[in-house]
Amino acid sequence: MKIRSVLSAAVLAVSTVFASTQALAQEKFTLRLAETWGPNFPIFGEATKNMAEMAEKMSDGRLRIRIDSSNKHKAPFGVFDMVKAGQYDMGHSASYYWKGKVPNTLFFTSMPFGMTAQEQYAWFYYGDGMELMQEVYEPHNLMSFPGGNTGIQMGGWFRKEINSIDDLQGLKMRIPGFAGEVFAEVGVSPTNIAPGELYTALERNTIDAVEWVGPALDLRLGFQQIADYYYTGWHEPATELQFLVNKKTWEKLPADLQEILRISMRTAAYDMLIQSQHENAKAWATIKEEHPELQVKQFPEEVFEAMYKANKKLLKEAAEGDELASRIVASQEEYLEKSRAYTDISERAYLNTMAEVE
Ligand code: CA
Repeated sequence: MKIRSVLSAAVLAVSTVFASTQALAQEKFTLRLAETWGPNFPIFGEATKNMAEMAEKMSDGRLRIRIDSSNKHKAPFGVFDMVKAGQYDMGHSASYYWKGKVPNTLFFTSMPFGMTAQEQYAWFYYGDGMELMQEVYEPHNLMSFPGGNTGIQMGGWFRKEINSIDDLQGLKMRIPGFAGEVFAEVGVSPTNIAPGELYTALERNTIDAVEWVGPALDLRLGFQQIADYYYTGWHEPATELQFLVNKKTWEKLPADLQEILRISMRTAAYDMLIQSQHENAKAWATIKEEHPELQVKQFPEEVFEAMYKANKKLLKEAAEGDELASRIVASQEEYLEKSRAYTDISERAYLNTMAEVE
């Protein structure tokens, strides 16, 4: 008798749990995402759509993500605030855009003379990257995840050849962020101009040079028609975009949907790196064919050396007086050193060998 009532109570308890799990399993969630990009923005916008599609399919429609592009929310650089306030559940943007608000967000996109995409993903997922990023975003009720990598960005389009540091003095160049500060240290006047006005600004000599992304996205803006020199990159060796998630939204999701969202973001991010390689190779072939006169250049060694020194100095300043910044800078420096020692005997050695035999 006693045993039976205990048993039936247990059965009742189990079935109650089962029923509530089922109810939870059937609950549907629609998250709203604000992206910094305009509608149908190639590659960047595709990463967001891929992520949403994967999440919806894997959850059998229980997790839907509705994307608003910047034409809808009108605040491309308001994504951080909108997701923080819960006006949107998610965002797709780039961490370094928030450095004016929260200086330490700067470190989670790409640093001049920093890690390559492969090295940086290793730092994020297997080193301290994710944890440090979370430490920066946590006080803002936000979670940040890698959101897609452009691969190494090109150093920019120049109308005149750069042969020395002297050639950089007073050069007006569109180059935003920390790299702009590094360039400023060696004499460049960095400016930030809206993408839609860049072509005209370069054509009318309002600026002398412009960096944007790489062949795939540069081709659309037409710089190849008005600049003869395309410089190789140093300033954004692995630009990682970002998925932002409002922390309360995340906590509302059942564990399986959290995992589905996490996997969707991670897969979409890595897929963007692969797509960038594909689209850049395609666009570069087109640019070379249509503009055989175009010259690909590297900055002279003295320019690189001066920028490398300026970068070190600025990083030291950023780390001074900010305990978290100094830990992030130290973590990145240590990881880069170790990781690069291996890259040197693997990827670099292979590419160098190939260059010799070809
Ligand atoms: Ca860029």
